[in-house]
Amino acid sequence: MRRVRGRARPQGSIVCGLTLHFCQRLFTRLEAAQTDHRKDYFEIPWASLRATVEPLFAERSLIHHKDYLVNGRLIVSKVTSITHKEVLTADGHQVAYDYLVVATGHYDPVPVTRADRFEEYLIENKKIKAADSILIVGGGPTGVELAAEIAVDFPQKKVTLVHDGSRLLEFIGPKASDKTLEWLKNKNVEVKLMQSVDMSSNTNTSGGNRTYFTSSGETIKADFHFLCTGKPPGSEWLRETYLKDRIDNFGRLKVDENLRVKGHRNIFAVGDVTDIKEPKQGYAAQKHSLVAAKNLKVLMSGGNESKLAKYEPRSSPKIIVSLGRQDAVAQFPFTTIIGLVPGMIKSKDLYVGKTRKKMGLNPK
Ligand SMILES: Cc1cc2nc3c(=O)[nH]c(=O)nc-3n(C[C@H](O)[C@H](O)[C@H](O)COP(=O)(O)OP(=O)(O)OC[C@H]3O[C@@H](n4cnc5c(N)ncnc54)[C@H](O)[C@@H]3O)c2cc1C
Repeated sequence: MRRVRGRARPQGSIVCGLTLHFCQRLFTRLEAAQTDHRKDYFEIPWASLRATVEPLFAERSLIHHKDYLVNGRLIVSKVTSITHKEVLTADGHQVAYDYLVVATGHYDPVPVTRADRFEEYLIENKKIKAADSILIVGGGPTGVELAAEIAVDFPQKKVTLVHDGSRLLEFIGPKASDKTLEWLKNKNVEVKLMQSVDMSSNTNTSGGNRTYFTSSGETIKADFHFLCTGKPPGSEWLRETYLKDRIDNFGRLKVDENLRVKGHRNIFAVGDVTDIKEPKQGYAAQKHSLVAAKNLKVLMSGGNESKLAKYEPRSSPKIIVSLGRQDAVAQFPFTTIIGLVPGMIKSKDLYVGKTRKKMGLNPK
């Protein structure tokens, strides 16, 4: 096992995620050790469902870390532990830190190289093309966006979406759920609510023509399925560490208003892994990272704690769920709309160009 000591007095240590490039903008001289779950690339998550129906879309949404991380030190390995002064990785690095940011989001095992991730999209796409019928399990934003992508690009396929809740998109208001249900029905997606699928029940494991059983005793025939039932917070690895008593019952890291892990002066947490009461969104994760970066700058320059910025979640955040290439459903503070207007904001490019630009990359 290769073991490399971190510098004696590092300037800081940033742990993975969507957000490092925002910190970089604020720290011209920061030497950051960024680690990412062994992946050699960053993926724009909200482009992943489009890439399933159109693999070439991933050309711009799968980005090698070296392409945007220009003033940091990158260690590609899984972080396995944290002590009060260093971070330990699966491949034996011990990275000392003065300040630390935890941004491990949600647990999502994906291929570790960009090439393999791309290949995965090609394989999924072939499966969709070869199938007559597809089952989608889960009616949250991922299940809904995927059902819509398939229904729009492959209108001849039979798509069934099963959700165990009483309405789709339960993280936003009932109006958005109703409009989305109507939209999917118009696209011939069969939606079954208040049912779960017994995933151990489908008998044909070699692909094609499977039978699935639901909790209501219904059977669904489909060639294959996508499981879109949500992912646990990426905090399991923290359970045996220095921060273990800072994890709440849902596996989220407890943070204070300055986005520091509660009780720790020099450890921040941002993004989906935090216990902030708001919908888990990349938009919010980016805001967190700006606050954390500002606060790091104050602390690292010896500034007074009273100067620390506070993060305040928006009481009614803007949420847009894309519905294929042109439409979307949007919940704004005073209204909920569906169709081309919100679609114009999100659905054509899924913010890929915008995100690339923010990362200092060519949007095209
Ligand atoms: C399909 C889909 C569509 C979405 N659409 C939108 C949208 O339209 N708008 C919006 O605002 N948000 C959207 N989101 C949500 C958004 O993607 C997340 O809120 C955002 O990615 C959270 O960022 P993060 O940096 O906290 O975590 P993540 O993006 O989950 O990144 C965490 C990273 O940490 C790595 N990691 C985890 N554990 C370790 C470890 N022990 N060691 C090293 N690395 C580790 C992971 O591999 C991962 O790369 C969508 C999400 C999905 C899945």
